[in-house]
Amino acid sequence: MDHDIKYIDEISLKNKRVLMRVDFNVPLDENGKITDDTRIREVLPTINYALDEGATLILASHLGRPEGKVIPSMSLAPVAKRLARLLDKNVRLTADCTGEDTKKIISVMQPGDVVLLENLRFHPEERANDEEFGKALGALADIYVNDAFATAHRAHASNVAVVGHVKEYAAGLLMKKELGYFTRILDKPLRPLVAIIGGKKVSDKIGVLKSLCDKADKIIIGGGMALTFFKALDYNVGNSVAEDSAMKTALEVIDYARSKKLKFYLPVDFVVADKFSPTAETKVVTYQEIPEGWMALDIGPATVTLFSEALQSAKTIIWNGPMGVFEMDAFSRGTFAMVNIVANSYALTIVGGGDTDVAVHRAGEYAKMSYISTGGGAFLELLEGKELPGIKALRDNT
Ligand code: AMP
Repeated sequence: MDHDIKYIDEISLKNKRVLMRVDFNVPLDENGKITDDTRIREVLPTINYALDEGATLILASHLGRPEGKVIPSMSLAPVAKRLARLLDKNVRLTADCTGEDTKKIISVMQPGDVVLLENLRFHPEERANDEEFGKALGALADIYVNDAFATAHRAHASNVAVVGHVKEYAAGLLMKKELGYFTRILDKPLRPLVAIIGGKKVSDKIGVLKSLCDKADKIIIGGGMALTFFKALDYNVGNSVAEDSAMKTALEVIDYARSKKLKFYLPVDFVVADKFSPTAETKVVTYQEIPEGWMALDIGPATVTLFSEALQSAKTIIWNGPMGVFEMDAFSRGTFAMVNIVANSYALTIVGGGDTDVAVHRAGEYAKMSYISTGGGAFLELLEGKELPGIKALRDNT
């Protein structure tokens, strides 16, 4: 996959004002405390690189979904504080991401200084990819750098419109790392390439499933989406999450996989529960025996053994989506068993963000994965073979 874009280490940053789009959309608890700062840490190499090269740094990010309104609990203030601690330098937060006051603050910045603009999504123009808003952002700097991989699948003003309003632009080092891994797994993967797809809905991942049929040697299906496959194959799935509207697609995927002669694995047993609750009554049953009124909420032990065998010879493993409702202890064993198997494999292991990332962290196996993408949606869209708008903007304007 040739993305054909320029990276930050190919341009001169000395004494330049650099507007860097980052994804600091970190989770906060009810007291506004950051519960996981991975997304901030992942951009530190790019930030430090720009500062070492003599740039004046203006960082821009969104946080949450304020829907175009100023929502104080979605201020980037906790991020500015955490970043200041991580960089061991002062990080000023502007009251607004554009406007005269912001321009004034930026006009007196010196090389080595860092400013964080307040939440881009406090303005409705951001999500609307508004040209004027993009222009206002672009006017703040000499150079624009996009290092927000996790937002690259969105066409928003700060990653698309802005590009047309700056003299020079490039992608950052996190973007380089993420795209580099995708090139490795999609262009010339070491085979066998095994994909593990879980999570709730087939409908969210149809494109990915079809595209993986073209690329992978084996596909392993777990999580709620497996139940849609079973229902489509005429098995009783009780009250499980099966999506009736996606059953036809599920059968098409099975047929397509068969025509490609790739191995397609579904669970052979499940942990079923009499209700969706951590205190539900549970038991392990085979896929033919899901009782009426019960729901399958995790893969069972025989499935873990089957999937483990399927992964044994893998040289590349791509994983997105949990194997069950891992948020509840009673239904987390399947997901955590798979985390251990993947973490201890000799394969190149790439994990897509979101829930799978949380599961890997919770299992304490973060360091053993080859790569954990910071992107959820962006990860899936790249796997699907789509071009991300944030990347396309950097290419089209070259
Ligand atoms: P996704 O965003 O599609 O990757 O789905 C992740 C969500 O799927 C998690 O919150 C899981 O709790 C949920 N999930 C996984 N397996 C099941 C299942 N068997 N039944 C219901 N929900 C599930």
